[in-house]
Amino acid sequence: MPKKILIAGAGGFIGGHLVAELLRQGHKDIRAVDIKPLKEWYQRFPQVENIRADLQLKKSCDHAAKGMEHIYNLAADMGGMGFIELNRGLCMLSVLINTHLLMAAREAGAKRYFYASSACVYAADKQTDPKISGLREADAYPAMPEDGYGWEKLFSERMCRHFTEDFKLTTRVARFHNVYGPHGTYDGGREKAPAAICRKVIEAKLSGKHEIEIWGDGYQTRSFMYIEDCITGIEKIFHSNKVTFPINLGSAEKVSINQLVDIVEEIAGIRLKRKYKLDAPKGVNGRNSDNTLIKKTLCWEPDLPLRKGMEKTYAWIYDEMTRRK
Ligand code: NAD
Repeated sequence: MPKKILIAGAGGFIGGHLVAELLRQGHKDIRAVDIKPLKEWYQRFPQVENIRADLQLKKSCDHAAKGMEHIYNLAADMGGMGFIELNRGLCMLSVLINTHLLMAAREAGAKRYFYASSACVYAADKQTDPKISGLREADAYPAMPEDGYGWEKLFSERMCRHFTEDFKLTTRVARFHNVYGPHGTYDGGREKAPAAICRKVIEAKLSGKHEIEIWGDGYQTRSFMYIEDCITGIEKIFHSNKVTFPINLGSAEKVSINQLVDIVEEIAGIRLKRKYKLDAPKGVNGRNSDNTLIKKTLCWEPDLPLRKGMEKTYAWIYDEMTRRK
């Protein structure tokens, strides 16, 4: 077991779950860093060294990385389509986090570094058909990723690769495909489709106004990975000596947004009148994870059925919303 582990972005959805998992594994020396005030972190653990810092600054990265052997970078200014399509400059500024953290990791003599990339690196012309079977890792090139957010991810992937080639820092890169689950954002503008749909269905149920607004025509397709699968995958990729390239980490269970709404309505035991907002940000027409490479290299893939994961997510959001009310 390594002595010291840094989780950047630990106040966020995936970072919080990763800290919880590392504690479960028995790690004792964890440093958790996020720019948000501590009271806004989704999960917070008193036995961990919790630090509030802006990791776009090199000196904050130096401080955070000092003495750390393993570094996980999950910090980014991000959100669902509604956020990333309207905040491209902010998304691109996350390049400062990964760049400064890589530099600090190298200077601190870190042994291993993880970078959270995204399916948004994939070229737009490979995602025009909702019937898409799956995006293979090679489909990121020739490059035409999601403007702003996707370009930042693709550039940062390459920074990791060159830090490995030039400076011998071992790096691991996973391309996450839509992660969902409890302890994440479900309102405020940064939420992603699964959480947003749960919230809208719960609002309809609680208010008695049986309508739901759907962004786009609902035929766009995606896959969604439950948070526990994501954390398992991060750990497998991070510790693997075979995964020396950016790799898909996502579910291959493709659904349309309409089918996702069907699932949430079934869980809630309600049927809603659907209103389609065709001019809302909706992203590409079709996206799914091709898991050939992860199955070949790790003999594993994310496999929790969407229906099961959505039941847990819905229950958590329902409790949060009724508690707040
Ligand atoms: P999140 O927004 O919940 O967590 C990111 C955290 O980074 C936030 O708590 C935020 O405060 C923090 N952060 C932002 N700027 C910072 C800064 N300058 N200094 C320190 N902390 C800063 O998002 P998440 O869903 O947990 O995503 C984690 C990583 O995974 C991100 O890199 C994201 O781009 C990537 N990713 C997530 C998904 C997904 O579906 N959730 C999909 C693809 C990629």
